This record gives sequence, structure tokens and C-alpha cells, in this order.
Amino acid sequence: VVRIRNNAKFEQFYDIDGEPIGEGKFGKVYHCVEKSTGLELAAKFIKIRKDADREQVEHEVSVMTRMRHPRIAWIYDAFYSTNNDVILVMELVKGGELFNRVVEDNFVLTEAAAAVIICQLCEAIDYIHRQNIVHLDIKPENIMCVTESGNRIKLIDFGLARHYDGSEDLYYMAGTPEFSAPEVIKFEPLDFHTDMWSVGVITYILLSGYSPFLGETTPLTYMNVERGEWEFIEEFDCVSEVAKDFISKLLVYDKSLRMLPKECLSHPWLANVRERAQKDVLLDQPNIGPAIPTDKLRRYNIRRRFRKATFAVMSYCEFAQILNVLRQRNSANGLEYFGKAKVEGLKKKKKSLAGAVLAMKN
Ligand code: ATP
Repeated sequence: VVRIRNNAKFEQFYDIDGEPIGEGKFGKVYHCVEKSTGLELAAKFIKIRKDADREQVEHEVSVMTRMRHPRIAWIYDAFYSTNNDVILVMELVKGGELFNRVVEDNFVLTEAAAAVIICQLCEAIDYIHRQNIVHLDIKPENIMCVTESGNRIKLIDFGLARHYDGSEDLYYMAGTPEFSAPEVIKFEPLDFHTDMWSVGVITYILLSGYSPFLGETTPLTYMNVERGEWEFIEEFDCVSEVAKDFISKLLVYDKSLRMLPKECLSHPWLANVRERAQKDVLLDQPNIGPAIPTDKLRRYNIRRRFRKATFAVMSYCEFAQILNVLRQRNSANGLEYFGKAKVEGLKKKKKSLAGAVLAMKN
């Protein structure tokens, strides 16, 4: 079990080299080496601006410390720095972000390769759900490749993960709208099925290079997700029926009808590759078979990086703007979004956001 160390200095135990290898909303990630063992690791420096950030990071550490699975990056150590930020030391996942890797010239993206990747993602999520955790931030940036060749992946980042055992309703509005399920946008109760919508979106993008709910602006994306309408565009003409069936059983508006990880793993699209993936045959060998064109995915990646740099943090003001759009668009049941129970649920989880919602309501 890893606890955040208060009375020890990170620099005493680890050396950092070079430029950051990644950057997220909360800070930078560096390559580091444990002095006593020479072990290569990743160090994530998380800026603590207020007490709520600290609670959030402590929660992330307590969740990560329970995660021991080959498809999940494990946490190794954690420190409070002298300026009271937090440093998480984790397993180094060296192959880069999945969506960057699959568009590289030396990577042949085939349908079988995509199935192997999604299969591992479902194995990771199945494990997480069995620990009574909902991840709530399944997105391409959080799926890393283990090496610079092969199809092995690992899930990173449990910053938004929440405990869920069905005994209490779970409300939480956070994450990246492009990958969020309709129930997230609508402040409805979430459960394990919520993560599976994101798996559907990722699979759709991987096979077509097109993001099914992404709008020109964040409020438009919210509206697209809230409406939940999508179709197979022409890029899917050469995709197998079984792969399309897999997506169709995940991008289901009514969450109770969405597949859970176990059902995904026994779906013919994944079952076909799973056994070979488990024996590692498909994990480390070059991909053979007809290649999926990745020019659209490449363009999508460029825009994704631009969006990440531009709209790093969604402000409460932006949340309020989105809620306003939703309310105006559907005034008849607009107040449904601000139902007492939902506001109460939010209040518990995110006091200031609830404040913004209530301010708008008045
Ligand atoms: P987000 O904006 O996704 O909420 P965050 O602040 O929680 O970000 P992470 O997603 O954990 O940060 O990390 C940011 C980036 O750093 C990742 O997208 C990845 O490129 C890199 N990174 C994170 N963890 C690791 C790791 N264990 N090994 C290698 N690179 C990593």
C-alpha cells in the first residue's frame, strides 16, 4: 500500500532526467530513476492549489494503490513536496499514447490489432469494476502503449475514479465531454455502464478516425452527447459487421442496455482475438492483414493536441454556459436538469459547481 510520504524528500530517492514526457490538467510527468535500484519510473508532479485538490490526489493515490493488474500502470511511491505539491511515482509506460502510436509509419493498424487493443482495455475495466471502482475518464490520453512495438497497452490516471457498489446513487459531472456518456451530461446516476460508452467512442474513432459526438465547441459536444444520435459514416463501409455490432452495443443511450466488460470480452469481435491475445501471440507480433487507413486518425490527433493545449481546464463558467444552452434548447423539461435530487447530489460532490447551477436556476 502506497501512502503519500510527508517526511521524506523525493530528490533523496529519485533522479529526474530530461524534459517532461507528458502533461495533463494537473501537472507534468517526468522520466525518473530510483537511485538505489536504477529502476526507471514515471513521476507525476501534481499542483495543489486548494484543499479540494489535495483531497482529490489523496483519493487518486488510495484508488491506484488498490490496482494491481497487468493492464494498469501501478503506483510505486508518493511524496508531498516542500511546496506542498504531490509527486506520484508510477510504473513507466514507455510506448507513448495509444492514438499517437497507431498512426506512426511503422505501425500497421488492422481490425485485429484494434480488437486486441480494445480487448485489453475491457480486461482493465473489468478488473477496475470488480474493485467497485468506476473510472469515469476512459479516453485515448489515458491509454498508453507499453513498448514502441507491439500492441500491449496500459491504462493510466485514476484522477476521476469513484467508488461505486450500487448502495447509493453516484452523481458526478467531470471528464472529457467527447467521451462522456449521456447520463454524465444530464446529471443522472452513473454506474459501471458509464465507462462502457467511452469504450464505444474510442473503438469508433480507432476504426474510422472520426469522433462521433465531437462538436465545434464544447457546448455543442455536450449537446451532441445529450442527444446521443450517431451513425456509421462511410469510413465504416470496409469495417466488419461484427466490429460494427460491437460498437452498436456500447453506444446505447439507455445505459442499462449497454454491454459491460465481461459481455464485451465474450462478444465475437473480441472473443476471436482474446485467446491469442492472452497467449501474447497478438500482443508482440507485427500486425498482418488489411490495414485500416489512418490519415483521418492522424488529422484527428493533431486537432486533439490543439484542443488539449487550448482548453486545458473547463471552468465553472463554461459549465454554466453549457447548462444554459441545454435549458434554452429544451425549456419544457429543462428544469429536470436542475431537479432537487440532482442538485443535492452535485452539492455533495462538487460544491462550487452546484453553486453555479443554483445561481443559474435563480
Ligand atoms: P488529464 O488531463 O488526462 O486529466 P492528468 O493531469 O491527470 O491529465 P495524466 O493523464 O496522468 O495527467 O498524465 C498526463 C500525460 O503524461 C499522459 O497523457 C501521458 O502522456 C503521460 N504519462 C502519464 N503517466 C505516465 C506513465 N506512467 N508513463 C509514461 N507516461 C505517462
